[in-house]
Amino acid sequence: MNRTPLIAGNWKMYKTVGDAERYIQALLPRVAGLEGVEIAIATPYTALAAMVDSTRGSRVGVYAQNMHEAAEGAFTGEISAPMLVELDVAGVVIGHSERRQYFAENDRAVSLKVAAALQAGLLPILCVGETEEERLAGDTERKLRHQVQEGLEHTPPERIAEVAIAYEPIWAIGTGRVATPDQAQEAASFVRALVGALRAGVDDQVRVLYGGSVNAANAAELLALPDVDGALVGGASLDAESFAAIAAAARERTR
Ligand code: PEP
Repeated sequence: MNRTPLIAGNWKMYKTVGDAERYIQALLPRVAGLEGVEIAIATPYTALAAMVDSTRGSRVGVYAQNMHEAAEGAFTGEISAPMLVELDVAGVVIGHSERRQYFAENDRAVSLKVAAALQAGLLPILCVGETEEERLAGDTERKLRHQVQEGLEHTPPERIAEVAIAYEPIWAIGTGRVATPDQAQEAASFVRALVGALRAGVDDQVRVLYGGSVNAANAAELLALPDVDGALVGGASLDAESFAAIAAAARERTR
């Protein structure tokens, strides 16, 4: 296995440009020595340009939290992949459950966004995951199968390995209820197998992240799981010290 761990922070709708600048000055020295770990921060659109400037030459990549699938058009309030690439943004979170839930983002749009991001030169993080009701009803695998297959439907098979897939059980996001290591491993391994069924051999290459109440205290256990190649971190990414501690836990995975 030779997959570089990816620790991605998702700031959601937090931090002004001033907040972001203070944060990044605190983060960069804390992660400078973390060789072999890829670090990303998905900031609000308004902070992207400043964060790209401030992180240049560091190991931190700046990601967007969403984008539109079209390159341009009459879509008021939207941002396209070429616009992000022009800013030197490295990647984009796609299909986060909050976007699916509050902004009615559907699988077709998610699928087109993943393909458009890759085509423009952005690394997509595709988010999938079940609700608590679905888990209790024994529907977790059905939901993941559906979201992974639909989410990658428009991605050329030879480019699937470039997509990171974040398994984020919705009941664990922002709740403090982290998945058990067994639950995280089982779902991550299932997602990996789904990708392998789409293109043989890609299962070994694709990065599967876990997301849902990851913090500095539980990161090491989750990041040691054989099929978990990193984390998508919401709340705990808002504090530079705790986010750096999570990235440091991923460093152990590379040893
Ligand atoms: C997320 O927003 O993707 C997330 C996992 O949030 P949190 O870490 O706060 O649960």
